[in-house]
Amino acid sequence: MRFAAFTSGGKKGLAVAGADGVFHGFFDGNSEYPGSLGSLIAKGSEALDTAAAVLKNGPVINLNQVQLLPPIQTPGKIICVGLNYVDHSLESGFTPPSYPTIFTRFTSSLIGAGSPIIRPKASTQLDYEGEMVVVIGTGGRHIAEADALKHVIGYSIFNDASIRDYQMKSPQWTVGKNFDATGAFGPWLVTADELPPGGTGLHLQTRLNGTVVQDASTSDMIFSAAKLIAILSEALTLSPGDIIVSGTPAGVGFARKPQLYMKHGDVCEIEIEGIGVLRNTVVDE
Ligand code: MG
Repeated sequence: MRFAAFTSGGKKGLAVAGADGVFHGFFDGNSEYPGSLGSLIAKGSEALDTAAAVLKNGPVINLNQVQLLPPIQTPGKIICVGLNYVDHSLESGFTPPSYPTIFTRFTSSLIGAGSPIIRPKASTQLDYEGEMVVVIGTGGRHIAEADALKHVIGYSIFNDASIRDYQMKSPQWTVGKNFDATGAFGPWLVTADELPPGGTGLHLQTRLNGTVVQDASTSDMIFSAAKLIAILSEALTLSPGDIIVSGTPAGVGFARKPQLYMKHGDVCEIEIEGIGVLRNTVVDE
């Protein structure tokens, strides 16, 4: 199942794709609206199935005529993984890590597919990072790697757009990873049953103005989705709706010679096989 969250005319809505790929759904305020995707995930996968059955009977939602939102607008945690591909670690001047490089984002940085990524006044070093998102369905602590994928409800795509000079101003990357409207998340959530276990073996490609700039397989991740869940839950309780932004492969702009940064009017697309295309334009603040 594919669930898309959207807004139109000041009202939020949720839609699900049918077998023909056409989305049907309802707006908040309609008696059939089942609630936000985040609230459904918190209720469990049966609630998601029930909601899908209801949404399928709703009117067609043309996703080109509404504003897509992040599938989950307020995840309790946005856990990002840096340096999770060997080639990207090396191009960035780091040794591939033996423990994942964890940083966090705030919900204030999130935007949906089709919304502009804002290049801030403060910097011209706005870079793209195409990544797969792992969405937690069932929470837990001390989750064994062998059980970890049972805790995943689905997958999505993320552009972890980074302000490089701010990212490197200090050893903590937090500021450079949290400028407003730099975390593109979408276009929708694909439930785990539609993808290979752990989202492995999927072709991931980032295109900037149509030129391929990142081209990899999610199998190249150093720490798989299952491993990340096991490692993270050693320290903290994962909760329904938390998202893990699983890292980017080689090809980012700052590691290129000459460097390649995104500017006003650019179009950045990230495509992951079996999930979709996350497309955003870049607009100056
Ligand atoms: Mg990243």
